[in-house]
Amino acid sequence: MFYSSPPYSPITPQILADIRNAVGEDALIEDPAKLEEYGKDATDHRQTPAIVVRAVSAAQVQALLRLANVHRFPVTPRGLGTGLAGGSVPSPGGVVLSLERMNRILSIDTDNLIAVVEPGVINLDLKKAAQSKGLFYPPDPASLETCSIGGNAATNAGGPACIKYGTTRDYVLGLEAVLPTGEIMEMGVQTRKGVVGYDLTHLMVGSEGTLGVITRLILKLIPNPVSVNTLVVLFPELSMAMKAVTSILVSGHIPSALEFLDRRCLELVGDLLPFEGARDAAALLVLEVDGLPGITERELEKIGEICLENGALDAFFAPDSHKRSQMWEVRRQVSVRIERDWPLYVPEDVVVPIGRIADFVDGLPALEELYEMKIYSFGHAGDGNIHVSVTAESRDLAGKVEKGIRAVLARALSMGGTISGEHGIGIAKKQFLPMELSTESIRIQKEIKRIFDPNMILNPGKIFD
Ligand SMILES: Cc1cc2nc3c(=O)[nH]c(=O)nc-3n(C[C@H](O)[C@H](O)[C@H](O)COP(=O)(O)OP(=O)(O)OC[C@H]3O[C@@H](n4cnc5c(N)ncnc54)[C@H](O)[C@@H]3O)c2cc1C
Repeated sequence: MFYSSPPYSPITPQILADIRNAVGEDALIEDPAKLEEYGKDATDHRQTPAIVVRAVSAAQVQALLRLANVHRFPVTPRGLGTGLAGGSVPSPGGVVLSLERMNRILSIDTDNLIAVVEPGVINLDLKKAAQSKGLFYPPDPASLETCSIGGNAATNAGGPACIKYGTTRDYVLGLEAVLPTGEIMEMGVQTRKGVVGYDLTHLMVGSEGTLGVITRLILKLIPNPVSVNTLVVLFPELSMAMKAVTSILVSGHIPSALEFLDRRCLELVGDLLPFEGARDAAALLVLEVDGLPGITERELEKIGEICLENGALDAFFAPDSHKRSQMWEVRRQVSVRIERDWPLYVPEDVVVPIGRIADFVDGLPALEELYEMKIYSFGHAGDGNIHVSVTAESRDLAGKVEKGIRAVLARALSMGGTISGEHGIGIAKKQFLPMELSTESIRIQKEIKRIFDPNMILNPGKIFD
């Protein structure tokens, strides 16, 4: 079960008739074959909803949530279902509220550098639209071709660009949300600054669809960097790669991406690299610098020198966009191949202080042996966010692996880290929440939930019960 109380009503024929009346026939999906698709995200969690409402307007969202309060049925907002925490997997017998059809880019304002969008817009579509006007929307989750801006805001998604540009939260100036009780509320500003009252906008960002349904977003854009250059560096030890990372940052360089792969990842995808030697290395860094032509090349050369001073085996510049995308494809293929090769795969995403990354990874083999798991580590070296991909030979080992994951998370916390940098808690990680948050913190967060959602109808059982 995802949730325990309060008792919810099933979708009876009468309630279904009320929903149909409120949102219109065109918005409803009742066909069992189609419902299944809306019962999952990118995790293994599955729960087929009773019905799906595909809204095209905030008014429909309002109507649905009002009925949910009257009849007490659970509603789960859903963007495009790429989440890695089970956040958009519905409650048993509940309704999925899909925002996929609210996918219009309402404006790209080049005078004020802002975009106004509906939540179902695909991340890459916004990036392209902004770029066509000389502007840049930086948040870049690896799922950018398939995830929605509403989902990005609800999970505060990030990606390689975080090191220089921050996460989705840094780009949400304001938003419109339908509260669980059905009121529409505008939050935040359209300006670069604003400190009037509590910051409800940024409470909504990262709240995983538990405090409101985001129906419009006002996003900050910045000038588009004209030049981007990429460098790949091989190291004989992960600790050397991480020393290089610190040296790069303290020398005053802020790359627009600074990613790493550990030895095991290199064994998995090294064959895809367009140069020799990758499979013999113990660590790889992918670095990118963006900005003005002429300057980015020189900066990257300097960064390459710093890597060699820190013991790098070799450094390769990507001379053109084709080679650049080849290098990024290698990074992307890590998760694809892990999923292909292992019957059990749990993608964790801890964060540790950047100076502790190598130390953290070096401690994993002892846990692997204890809990019969194999761990691939890769991710964002520049901000300490490690994708700890935990795998096992058989799904029967799930119980043991969960204990192993607990030990991995405890290790991250003992180093001053956090148990999730990007994916969120949803249902996948809620059993681990008390490892990081105090009883008092959880109590206050539950009180906040109660203020927004007194009848607990919006995405119940996510983050906590
Ligand atoms: C291959 C792959 C790579 C990924 N890489 C990254 C990465 O680099 N960085 C990263 O951060 N994540 C990554 N993810 C995870 C995922 O793509 C992000 O969490 C993304 O933000 C989810 O967007 P979505 O539209 O698919 O949302 P969904 O999965 O549909 O929903 C996610 C959560 O947001 C809520 N939600 C969705 N829309 C709304 C709305 N309009 N209003 C209120 N709540 C809403 C849902 O209830 C749910 O709790 C990756 C996933 C995959 C499969």
